[in-house]
Amino acid sequence: MSNVAQASSSLISLCVAPARVVRAQQAIEQASSAIAQLGKRPLIIGGHQTLEAVASRLHAPLAEKQLEFAQASYSPDCSEASLAALRETARQHRADFIIGVGGGKALDTAKLIAHQCQFPIVTIPTSAATCAAWTALSNVYSDAGAFLYDVSLDRCPDLLILDYDLVGTASQRTLVAGIGDAIAKWYEASVSSGHSDQTLIVAAVQQARILRDILFQKSAEALKNPGGEAWQQVVDASVLLAGVIGGIGGAQCRTVAAHAVHNGLTHLPAAHDALHGEKVAYGILVQLRLEEMVQGNQLAVTARQQLLKFYDEIGLPKTLEDLGLAHITLAELRQAAEVACATNSDIHRLPFKVVPEQLMAAMVSTSSFVMSHSSSATPRITADKGQMAKDKGLKNK
Ligand SMILES: [Zn+2]
Repeated sequence: MSNVAQASSSLISLCVAPARVVRAQQAIEQASSAIAQLGKRPLIIGGHQTLEAVASRLHAPLAEKQLEFAQASYSPDCSEASLAALRETARQHRADFIIGVGGGKALDTAKLIAHQCQFPIVTIPTSAATCAAWTALSNVYSDAGAFLYDVSLDRCPDLLILDYDLVGTASQRTLVAGIGDAIAKWYEASVSSGHSDQTLIVAAVQQARILRDILFQKSAEALKNPGGEAWQQVVDASVLLAGVIGGIGGAQCRTVAAHAVHNGLTHLPAAHDALHGEKVAYGILVQLRLEEMVQGNQLAVTARQQLLKFYDEIGLPKTLEDLGLAHITLAELRQAAEVACATNSDIHRLPFKVVPEQLMAAMVSTSSFVMSHSSSATPRITADKGQMAKDKGLKNK
């Protein structure tokens, strides 16, 4: 089936960006008027702990504008059961708009409730772990956290509040994960859409390359100086620029194998402690490994070596062991690979066919060593036991 040919002859609808983005230190306090323009009775949706943690900052500006707010947690996950309970809470509160606060799952839940109830939506990310605050897309999971499907929303949020003080309270690990999710844009968009001659798709793919380069250049410095200039630029890159790419690239600029591998891993309970961007970052290495193994793609060899170095520098997981999956069984590995290779999976946007056996082989060899005598020599792939042993010793905590 040719999705590209189909898309170019049918209506293309884009949700490019939030109607308004405000960003600053203390942005929440400064955005109270913008929030109050959206309604009178907000329902605040987030995780239990987040709702408690932001109360001291969020409640006063809302009260000052005489907004009648209520709040509700989305536990256990962004699942159909939570969504049904939250729609009922919104109805009881007679909510007329939604404020989502938290990480990717909290924001996905809040956006989807707003979409289903046809309410305006404000997103307030508490970390730079994903671009969920920007996008018109929500992922739905089982109560146990397994990825089920995604939902395209009517529009991007009405207001995105990027409060650097709030994001600064998140762990460094969330920013590292956000960097992993953001660099995936290049490795996936260049495969799914790199040959497009459509103006906006070309622009999206090039933005993805720029995003990757900014992150290559500034991530190490950002992590050394949280709250500093480079840190702020890296937060903008992970939360905002990653969103821009999804916005202008639209449905044609899709995820490929990196996110398919992530989706497969969410079906393993042992992988639940790894963050979205950590699984995606590992998935990029798997995707490149597939391009090497199946296609003999030498550029993929070089790209993977470059990423392994970068991951070492900033602490992204390179192997199943780094993801805390050192002890999974062959059956579990196969299960993840089969989910990732399901008929409707984005892994089939790769320019070659992939079966679970190939994917399993790629998943266990993401850090395999490449011997290259000089930059002009053709790299040769060998399994280096020393390197693998070293990788096993590195835990990503
Ligand atoms: Zn992602």
